[in-house]
Amino acid sequence: MAEQEKLYEPAICAGCEGLGCSYCRGTGSVLVESPKKKCPHCDGAGCIYCGFTGWHRPKGKFD
Ligand SMILES: [Zn+2]
Ligand SMILES: [Zn+2]
Repeated sequence: MAEQEKLYEPAICAGCEGLGCSYCRGTGSVLVESPKKKCPHCDGAGCIYCGFTGWHRPKGKFD
């Protein structure tokens, strides 16, 4: 029963532009599904669909 592991890569949080905020748990970056893409709903600005990270499919939001 091998589960396919998703690949994630770090991306700068759009909520704080790397300074650290509650959306990225103070780290300034978030893990997003690889290959990383800007959120199609807000074009990287941050919205409810991307958890205000600005990225498509951030890790954790849908876990
Ligand atoms: Zn942040
Ligand atoms: Zn968005």
